[in-house]
Amino acid sequence: MDKRTKILATLGPSSHSIETIEGLIKAGANMFRLNFSHGSHEYHKETLDNIRTAMKNLNKTVGVLQDISGPKVRIGDLKEPFELHRGDVITFLKDEIVGYKQADKKYIVSINYPDILSKVKVDEYIYLYDGTIRAKVIQTGDEVQAKIENHGILSSRKGVNFPNTVIDIDVITKKDEKDIAWGVENQVDYFAISFVQNAKDMKKARKLLNGYRGKLIAKIEKFDAVENIDEIIEESDGLMVARGDLGIEVPYYDVPTIQKMLIKKANNVGMPVITATQMLLSMTHNERATRAEISDVANAVLDGTDVVMLSEESAVGEDPINVVDTMSNIIARTEDIYNFDKQAKFDYLDHFDVIQATVTKLADDLGARGILALTSSGKSAIKMSRYRPRTPIYAFTHKKKILSALTAIWGVKPIGTIKEAQASKMFQKMLKELDAKGLLDKSETYVATVGYPVGMPGSTNTIKILTPSEIEYYLNFKNK
Ligand code: PGA
Ligand code: MN
Repeated sequence: MDKRTKILATLGPSSHSIETIEGLIKAGANMFRLNFSHGSHEYHKETLDNIRTAMKNLNKTVGVLQDISGPKVRIGDLKEPFELHRGDVITFLKDEIVGYKQADKKYIVSINYPDILSKVKVDEYIYLYDGTIRAKVIQTGDEVQAKIENHGILSSRKGVNFPNTVIDIDVITKKDEKDIAWGVENQVDYFAISFVQNAKDMKKARKLLNGYRGKLIAKIEKFDAVENIDEIIEESDGLMVARGDLGIEVPYYDVPTIQKMLIKKANNVGMPVITATQMLLSMTHNERATRAEISDVANAVLDGTDVVMLSEESAVGEDPINVVDTMSNIIARTEDIYNFDKQAKFDYLDHFDVIQATVTKLADDLGARGILALTSSGKSAIKMSRYRPRTPIYAFTHKKKILSALTAIWGVKPIGTIKEAQASKMFQKMLKELDAKGLLDKSETYVATVGYPVGMPGSTNTIKILTPSEIEYYLNFKNK
């Protein structure tokens, strides 16, 4: 399947076996998400081991993203579910209690982050049960009272949102700290940080990596994250348009424009962006996606997303491989009309951009079959991707870890690692690896880029055009 946009599939009970993971990779999954809102460390370790076994079996590099659950605000336990009606009054206490019905049309509850209650103001909204029940604050102080505005049934531990309140809580909980330590120990490629509010939250997350060079993805799912997006980008390696929670935090009709704004900003600075949640949701139980879902995936691709994500669809759905297959087909067909070739669209941010923009233009104008990029930090491949060439970017690195961190980058195919110090040997190794993977067409032209000599600071300084006769030459090259 030839596609440039990547697929991130959440693994769960329906998909964590080696066999299914292999099926998902073959169907087009490039990365897997371990969702730390559920499951023990042992459970995730087993899944991770299975991913690594599948990678070995298929001789293919896929990425691992650890999704850190963050502070999900929830209602406390309730004695019994409440049937709430418009006009009922719900009181939030700061002490932990079991919620109960106090009188006709009057209910008492607590939440797991009571400090938030000191920050709400009259006329702000509180959403209950993942956005389904809306309540307007009518009184603040030691207890917060809110008036229910629509009918709904509320049960224990359902999600609560404060879409108008800057709550400024620590988005990295004690559990998250332990989970991040697990990710560092197990060398995951990407960490996704939930409910980020500002740059400070990302800096805290970075500190917890303890020097480990994993990539940090900021999940944009709070209204204040949208407001603080520029400073968040400064401290992040990538973004996720986390439409599930975002759709509760901001008015539903704002989600599509925010998605486009986030993708545009990420594209502009050359960082990966993941579009997430409900992309093919109906396929959790159905064999076919709805027309609206198919269009949603296609539109995210056309918006310029690097990655599209699957949640329930692949974690607990009935046929995860069919879902990934469907997503791959939508991406591949949509890329027929993709708006490639962004050389003219972006300013050069630094001199690396000048080189990489030129390489992608050269490859596209030559009609090259591929760019072979040997990149020691991954940066030059990421920069090339920024210009969205038609030509696939086959990435080679010195270290395995750098290679798997390129799985989220649009158009970049991570191929292998190379240890050679001599330029001719580098070209030879890249061509041989590509050939071994069945990806080399010896009758076509390729453009190869390397930084040479190895170990010199800086980036690409050598651009080599490999025509069929040169490919032949390098494949048979012997060191004298
Ligand atoms: P979640 O994040 O699945 O961890 O909630 C994604 C989202 O909110 O869209
Ligand atoms: Mn979320």
